[in-house]
Amino acid sequence: MMNLRLVKPGSLIDINRLTDLDYIRPERDELAIGALTRHTAAASSPVVAEFCPLMTAAYDHIAHRAVRNRGSVGGNLCHADPSSENPAVAVASGATLVLKSADGERRVAAEDFFLGLYETAAQQNELLTEIRIPKAPAHQGWSFQETSTRKGDFALVGIAATLDCPNGTCTNARIVAVGVGERAMRLDAAEVAITGAVMDDTDLTAAAEAARDSVDPPSDFHADSEFR
Ligand SMILES: Cc1cc2nc3c(=O)[nH]c(=O)nc-3n(C[C@H](O)[C@H](O)[C@H](O)COP(=O)(O)OP(=O)(O)OC[C@H]3O[C@@H](n4cnc5c(N)ncnc54)[C@H](O)[C@@H]3O)c2cc1C
Repeated sequence: MMNLRLVKPGSLIDINRLTDLDYIRPERDELAIGALTRHTAAASSPVVAEFCPLMTAAYDHIAHRAVRNRGSVGGNLCHADPSSENPAVAVASGATLVLKSADGERRVAAEDFFLGLYETAAQQNELLTEIRIPKAPAHQGWSFQETSTRKGDFALVGIAATLDCPNGTCTNARIVAVGVGERAMRLDAAEVAITGAVMDDTDLTAAAEAARDSVDPPSDFHADSEFR
């Protein structure tokens, strides 16, 4: 943000030495990721792959090695870039974000955290300390798909999806898009179209059409609305 001259903070707090916030650990049926965990650690973690394979898949698309070595999972989420992949992963996997301040701790569902362009529900006096992700159930299907100009670039459009299908029928769907609006957005119409469906080609086509019809992507230097 400073590099882009979008913000000029009067003071800057470096949290790099808060090593207590750098961890990945399974806690019963949840995955806990400390906010200062580097992308590289999350991308290569077998614990992340077991609990949230969607995140591991998304890391195929997130930035380049040098950026992943320095960028943190928490910083990435707080940055709230509308084309960033991890916000979609967090919303699609039903994550909860833990925010702390001198006044105490509160927990915010990922889908309530991303408010708009580079805007989150975190208050100025709050630090994101942890991301908690429920373990993906055995009957859950998932996918992360992205189109970008070059591998490692921000998404032109990305989709993170989790579908609960205990008996071949979808009972719960979370389909989240990035790059089509000011924040990671659940595609409600597509979710409704797929919930209760047996997911044959007809159902999937109906959901894809509902997804397409429910967004009005922006045009910019990288791609126009129709392409997105
Ligand atoms: C060349 C390049 C390519 C990139 N490509 C991608 C990409 O393809 N996909 C993608 O998702 N990202 C991409 N990024 C972003 C990158 O992944 C980092 O996530 C991002 O730069 C944030 O870095 P950081 O963790 O150092 O956070 P910072 O830059 O330090 O912080 C980002 C913002 O979050 C706030 N913040 C940071 N940590 C916390 C916290 N714990 N609690 C509260 N607020 C906090 C800061 O105050 C700041 O406003 C790219 C970045 C670069 C430079």
